[in-house]
Amino acid sequence: MPSAAVTRNKTDLRKELLRVIEKVPYISQRFLKAELTSEIRGSLLPLWARKNPVSGNRLMLCGDAASLINPASGAGIGQAMQSGRFAGWQALKCFEKNDFSAKYLKNYDNTIREKLWKENRQHLLLRELVLKNAWIFNSFVSAGQKNKSISNMILQHLG
Ligand SMILES: Cc1cc2nc3c(=O)[nH]c(=O)nc-3n(C[C@H](O)[C@H](O)[C@H](O)COP(=O)(O)OP(=O)(O)OC[C@H]3O[C@@H](n4cnc5c(N)ncnc54)[C@H](O)[C@@H]3O)c2cc1C
Repeated sequence: MPSAAVTRNKTDLRKELLRVIEKVPYISQRFLKAELTSEIRGSLLPLWARKNPVSGNRLMLCGDAASLINPASGAGIGQAMQSGRFAGWQALKCFEKNDFSAKYLKNYDNTIREKLWKENRQHLLLRELVLKNAWIFNSFVSAGQKNKSISNMILQHLG
């Protein structure tokens, strides 16, 4: 949940988590035999909401440090691995050319935007849609419970 919305709606996320686990039928079934073994703790996720620079003089940022988390699903492992690979390849080129300048490292920014931004932008739009029209999303999820191809489509966009 966006932190601005948590503050605006005064949402208690811990209580909300317990409510969902206990009361929402298609979720509570999965937790019937589960037991709470520690306190519930939250964490802020650096979502990829705009095109921030991810490099500078002698530095490249990857994964969460570069705020590459999917803004719709909160997933970031894939982007962390991919950006790590791109950074590794760029580092190799830097050594070959002995150039670690911000100007040369801009190539890494370009690669991240070229390879990952397009898909992220779709997730950003999806997130906006969900935040502004929650009922549309809820209708989709309800339809997805009954229809396999709709649920596959939702998973494809949020997975
Ligand atoms: C509760 C939660 C659930 C999540 N669930 C999912 C999920 O289901 N699917 C998904 O794709 N993503 C999920 N994510 C996001 C995902 O965990 C991150 O996007 C991903 O781990 C980012 O990888 P990273 O390598 O950038 O950073 P990290 O995995 O955070 O790795 C950074 C590492 O650097 C170490 N470190 C920090 N400071 C220093 C220092 N000064 N010196 C040396 N080492 C240091 C840290 O200890 C850590 O090991 C979740 C995140 C959270 C918080």
